[in-house]
Amino acid sequence: MAIILDGKALAKSIVKEVKTQVNAMAEPPGLAVVIVGDNPASRVYVNNKKKDCQACGIVSTEYALPEDVGESKLLALIDELNQSKDVHGILVQLPLPEGYDVQKIIQAISPLKDVDAFHMLNVGRIFNGDYSFLPCTPAGVIELLDYYNIDPKGKHCVVVGHSNIVGKPMAMMLLHRHATVTVCHIHTADLGFHTRQADILVCAVGKIGLITGDMVKPGAVVVDVGINRRDDGSMCGDVDFEAVSQVASHITPVPGGVGPMTRAMLMRNTVMAAN
Ligand code: NAP
Repeated sequence: MAIILDGKALAKSIVKEVKTQVNAMAEPPGLAVVIVGDNPASRVYVNNKKKDCQACGIVSTEYALPEDVGESKLLALIDELNQSKDVHGILVQLPLPEGYDVQKIIQAISPLKDVDAFHMLNVGRIFNGDYSFLPCTPAGVIELLDYYNIDPKGKHCVVVGHSNIVGKPMAMMLLHRHATVTVCHIHTADLGFHTRQADILVCAVGKIGLITGDMVKPGAVVVDVGINRRDDGSMCGDVDFEAVSQVASHITPVPGGVGPMTRAMLMRNTVMAAN
């Protein structure tokens, strides 16, 4: 049975650390959370972020806008938040409702307040290895690997999924850690051939049961970023946990793995933005 990479416990200790840092600051950091429309999943994420802020002593302010608020009013709000001295971090909850130009909105956020690290300037800095903010999910994965003394250096890391917010920055960050990196996506022929080569396998797709036991090399480290809902409403990742945990040396559970780490990294980025 694989060792569980316990993101929940590690995140708890990071939140505690962040709280100590916040307590030592003259003014608490401020995080503006912008949500447009009433996507139920987004609402849960925003509520969780507000709870995390409260636990750390970060002042979170929610800006809940109706779905039809329109791009110009949203951009005006971002401009106002960019200017505000009390706001150190700005987060626009994604996905935005249909009709919004997501890139236009993200690029309007000041790169100095871009705690999600989605702004092009921050993305480019990650590419160069000269960064301040890191995107929360891949940063959380690296933090988890570090905590369990899993060094990507010289390892073959296979990342499944190549989104701008998870897969691509994950691959880049593993490359900065001197791993040999393969990135797979929907057009990858014979996914199993690639995943079986992985010493460290990171899956970020959003498909239940995508990674089965026979797709994992014995002794591999398996990180499951996926968040899916089964028909009964319960949460699971992309990896067949029961089967893969018999083959892998280490594995993240869902829930309790990468999710809480992502949330903890946002708190850390917000403190960084205020310093
Ligand atoms: P996304 O933007 O939908 O990207 C999914 C990626 O998977 C795309 O690159 C897609 O390739 C690829 N893909 C789709 N089907 C595939 C297949 N059968 N084989 C190989 N690759 C395939 O999603 P995302 O935002 O990166 O998120 C991925 C998953 O992680 C979701 O379940 C999301 O909920 C979860 N997530 C979790 C956290 C966390 O904190 N734990 C944070 C963020 C996201 P194409 O683009 O070529 O179609």
